[in-house]
Amino acid sequence: MKKKYVAINQPSAMEFFSRIPDEDAARKYLASGRWPNGVKCHHCGHGEIWTIKGGMLYRCKGCGKQFTVRTGTVMEDSHIPLRKWVYAMYLMTISRKSISSVQLAKELGITQKSAWFMAHRLRESCESKAMLSGTCEADETYIGGKEKNKHASKRTHAGRGGVGKTIVFGIKSRDGGTRAKVLPVANRKELHAAVKEAVASGAILYTDDHRGYYGLKDYRRTAVNHSKGEYVDGDAHTNTIESFWAVLKRAHYGTFHHWSKKHLARYVNEFVFKANTNGLPAFDKTGNDCGITTVRAHMAGMEGKRLTYQGLIA
Ligand SMILES: [Zn+2]
Repeated sequence: MKKKYVAINQPSAMEFFSRIPDEDAARKYLASGRWPNGVKCHHCGHGEIWTIKGGMLYRCKGCGKQFTVRTGTVMEDSHIPLRKWVYAMYLMTISRKSISSVQLAKELGITQKSAWFMAHRLRESCESKAMLSGTCEADETYIGGKEKNKHASKRTHAGRGGVGKTIVFGIKSRDGGTRAKVLPVANRKELHAAVKEAVASGAILYTDDHRGYYGLKDYRRTAVNHSKGEYVDGDAHTNTIESFWAVLKRAHYGTFHHWSKKHLARYVNEFVFKANTNGLPAFDKTGNDCGITTVRAHMAGMEGKRLTYQGLIA
């Protein structure tokens, strides 16, 4: 069974602004995603908290330390209002091919540099660590520009096919659930480790006929022979993961034009997160504070994530 992209009617920007009318609403919304069962101390995990300054600050009744909804997340050192952070998460959700930093800057009324840094911090916190099971399809793809289009100083002079391209390994369960990551090389050691990290043992695995998958124990693996031009033979295909690559590549060429090797892993993070939250609303219009939304899922993944500007450009 092929799980297709689920088109849902996402709330409009007008609905966003009435649901999240101010900083207070944005902070409450983000807190409900970070602590779905009530605010817990960032420092010691204690569940009893004083709320200070109308909710802007928390103080732990256990350890006495203070924290905010931003503490210990990618938003910690940011001066950008929380409402703009939520709006950026909303825009990432509703833009299937994502959003460029130029467009994000216009939407939020911030500089392009701030928007670029913000978007990378959001991608850094797009977390997808659930183990996949059932029937899974694994595949690799190569992302990157053609050498002849690059400025001479940026050419890698590596001399063979795949030059300047980055390997992305991906795996998708037909029951839902996607994982993908950048690999330094597509050899047996890396591919085996990537599969084991993402898929529960005992799963049915369809791969291409790459030799790197040989000898994978703990899975019922079948190779789909692309090089012989075989047509889809019943269940033996990798169309599901290939449709994920198609979305990733359309975004690459359509929205961003160029992804540098250095930042590629974060773009991949974003699209994996989008695939895993596909079908969820960006936020709940009705004020049902228990519902899972992409903004809440995003906020849940922010715990413990940091990315400084210096770290980003280094
Ligand atoms: Zn505490």
